[in-house]
Amino acid sequence: MLTCQRCLRNFGDREPVWCCPCGGTLQLKDCTPSAVDRRGIWRYLGGLPIEPEHIVSMGEGDTPLIERAVGGRSAWFKLDYLAPTGSYKDRGMSVLVSWLRSAGITRVVEDSSGNAGSSMAAYCAAGGVACDVYVPDYTSSGKCVQIAAYGARLVRVPGTREDTTRAAERAGASCFYASHNWSPWFLHGIKTWFLEVFDVLPEVRNVVVPVGQGSVALGARLAMEELRKTGHLERLPRIFAVQPAHCDPLARAFEAGLEDPVPIEKEDTAAEGIASAEPVRGTEVLRAVRDTGGGFVTVSEPEIWSAHADLCRAGLYVEPTSAAAAAGWRKLCDAGRIDAVEPTVVYLSGIGLKATDKIAEHMR
Ligand SMILES: [Zn+2]
Repeated sequence: MLTCQRCLRNFGDREPVWCCPCGGTLQLKDCTPSAVDRRGIWRYLGGLPIEPEHIVSMGEGDTPLIERAVGGRSAWFKLDYLAPTGSYKDRGMSVLVSWLRSAGITRVVEDSSGNAGSSMAAYCAAGGVACDVYVPDYTSSGKCVQIAAYGARLVRVPGTREDTTRAAERAGASCFYASHNWSPWFLHGIKTWFLEVFDVLPEVRNVVVPVGQGSVALGARLAMEELRKTGHLERLPRIFAVQPAHCDPLARAFEAGLEDPVPIEKEDTAAEGIASAEPVRGTEVLRAVRDTGGGFVTVSEPEIWSAHADLCRAGLYVEPTSAAAAAGWRKLCDAGRIDAVEPTVVYLSGIGLKATDKIAEHMR
């Protein structure tokens, strides 16, 4: 059952809704994981009301967790950029597109800063769902090529990321608006990243994640809650959320002790995957971070690129958005907010090959 986070109205599992008529976000309730003989993320998703014959999977999940020294300091790195389409979104998209098929939805529209669009296009191609992907016209060419190559219709929208969302919502009036940011199904796929970490590193004390819309943080929080309910986890690991200083509506709200994102004037950032000025689940993200005793940290553009260089020199070729997480981790250690002896996981969300043009431009 789906429940509105604002007015508590309930919806059935198969109802083609992406948000409550009141404008609230939806969450999936009463999802009890059950053991199933599956691999990757689906190992953890036995409780989802999706028939096995509707599952669209390309082996997502089971990504490496490695301990590595980066920039002279050690941490664990979750290599979620090693996914079928090169970004962590595949975890969520596998579940979202499987649900679309269970619900009998055959045509969708999605909006994305790039990675989610690529992932949606790939899973729709694999699952036989027609798909239009709206992206801001500043999106890296690598991502646009990838989306179109999967056979999705690519629509480039001038203006801001938010203009892209509004264009997709309008288009969604005539088919299903399958926004990953609104989808409760997507989040259940994303949560599996933390379940995998916990299987290997149950003593994990901190997770450092890049946050735009906040799905990585929300997925971790959801996984932690399920692990606590089943008696596996007593003390929640702290979630540290990293935002670019050029787009930090949640970090500012957190510092000010507010419950909702703060309106901001967004500036250009290399971390395009987390350049979200109006995160739809912002209130939930702020609550999730507070619940764990974690916090926010903002990083400048030079700090992002410096961390990117350090990651590359350690053999980790990620996109700048992922480097923001490493930059945040470095600042949290420097400030004494994270102790070097605590088991800490830094989350790497997208592969560097997606952002070849931006990385090349920076190296010049
Ligand atoms: Zn509602």
